Amino acid sequence: MAEPDGLDAASLFLEGMGITYGDFILLPGYIDFQVSDVDLESRLTRNIRLKHPVVSSPMDTVTESRMAINMALLGGIGIIHYNNTIPEQAEHVRKVKRFENGFISDPVVLGPNNTIADVYRIRALHGFSGIPITEDGTMKGRLVGIVTRRDIDFEQDRSKRLGDFMTREVITAPVGVTLHQANEILRRSKKGKLPIVDKDERLVSLVSRNDLLKNEDFPNATKDSNKQLRVGAAIGTKPQDRDRLEALVETGVDVVVIDSSQGWSAFQIEMIRFIKQRHPDLDVIGGNVVCRNQAEALIEAGADALRIGMGPGSICITQETMAAGRAQAGAVYHVAKFARHHKRNVPVIADGGIRGIGDIAKAVAVGSGAVMMGSLLAGTTEAPGDYFYEGGVRLKRYRGMASLEAMAKGGDKRYFSEDDVIKVPQGVSGAVVDRGSVVQFIPYLMHGLRHSLQDLGYKSLEALHEALYSGRLRFEKRSASAQREGGVHGLHSYEDPNMGFIRRAGDR
Ligand code: GDP
Ligand code: 5GP
Repeated sequence: MAEPDGLDAASLFLEGMGITYGDFILLPGYIDFQVSDVDLESRLTRNIRLKHPVVSSPMDTVTESRMAINMALLGGIGIIHYNNTIPEQAEHVRKVKRFENGFISDPVVLGPNNTIADVYRIRALHGFSGIPITEDGTMKGRLVGIVTRRDIDFEQDRSKRLGDFMTREVITAPVGVTLHQANEILRRSKKGKLPIVDKDERLVSLVSRNDLLKNEDFPNATKDSNKQLRVGAAIGTKPQDRDRLEALVETGVDVVVIDSSQGWSAFQIEMIRFIKQRHPDLDVIGGNVVCRNQAEALIEAGADALRIGMGPGSICITQETMAAGRAQAGAVYHVAKFARHHKRNVPVIADGGIRGIGDIAKAVAVGSGAVMMGSLLAGTTEAPGDYFYEGGVRLKRYRGMASLEAMAKGGDKRYFSEDDVIKVPQGVSGAVVDRGSVVQFIPYLMHGLRHSLQDLGYKSLEALHEALYSGRLRFEKRSASAQREGGVHGLHSYEDPNMGFIRRAGDR
């Protein structure tokens, strides 16, 4: 057999030179299987596995309950940010844990004294108008009726009370009904909504006929042993974060991320020890780290996974302002190798700088078990915030947690700068393009990743990692002109599939 071309990983990532995702390429392998045979299952932490190695970042323009629910349904996981109060963050976690496919666990409700105008306001804000009416207008009150568009569409005077228009004979189902049974009741009754009530007639959830028609199935969903979706949440290392931790544990959080831009600190080591002592079964992701000695300290304190990255994020200016950090691909390679071969065998997450499928493939090829993304997900429907238009392009706001804007709201917790009188930003705020729903976007990314693994000749991430460490996986460095050759060139303009808009020559 011919000598293999290229370099093994150890020769590519020699000490002393920063290597990023753009600086190398992977050489192809032998294919004897279909794309559909590629298995992307991996370890997020020592105890939690994901069918798809994707994590949404704990940032206030990326992950709240809606993103976390959908990330878990799609086989990844979301980490709820902590630029909010403890009850707010716990409520996001609770919504994910209580989620049941097809059941709306926190439906918008009104009371008999609300007006028709309130229904129109809700419709303008959320897009639906089927609203259960309870005695006192909260989920705690008894269900007394339901209002749908047909109850109010002929009424001109919007100041009238809903109590005079609502349908009082509501067909309901008791708690515990299966989605299949609910489906059957809706089919027979020909209604659009089925409120689910407890024995005291209190509303527990709502089933919508239109959701059943979509009948989406999520075979890859990330679930715990009770079949509830898994969710993570970020915390800091201050004394008050211990209260946050307790509130999160009470709501059933599956994993906590200690959110720090430089994780090698006495504060973090102490926090990890504290968590592992109080809640030995709760998984803890430590970080961020980029060097082996940082990793060693956190692994020995008890971390169940490490988050790698200091400065590669799209909104990040840490490397320029602080002069500390490390090129991301090399950081992932060195730390992942160390953590895997440590006696506790800890997986790592490549955090930041992921621009598309190619970077995800490179991040896993150099040893990470999952990738964490901010900018790629901030433009999806499930990210917090509203869309707006600029120059005809549909956008959403995206900001670094250490941007001046986010720090003004308390987002500088991960940068040891909460007590600073003068704030030095380590991030910027800006906007990202609309990427549609993660329900289409994540499967697109994962299908692309399967193709990439097929080109490399590996059927699973585990096989890829074995090849990485045995030297069978081959790499080549890319000169500046090799990088230009590998990108689009020689066109006047083209539609960039990663960005979704037209680029002109010279834009890059
Ligand atoms: P409606 O008939 O105008 O209420 O709207 P549809 O039932 O056609 O669609 C409502 C969509 O919004 C469904 O996909 C629901 O799952 C979703 N949804 C999310 N939260 C709520 C809620 O609080 N109430 C209602 N009615 N729908 C919700
Ligand atoms: P992205 O996917 O946008 O390239 O990177 C997201 C990652 O950037 C986050 O997961 C987090 O680690 C990091 N990050 C978030 N906000 C900031 C910030 O303001 N400054 C820096 N240096 N990094 C940030």
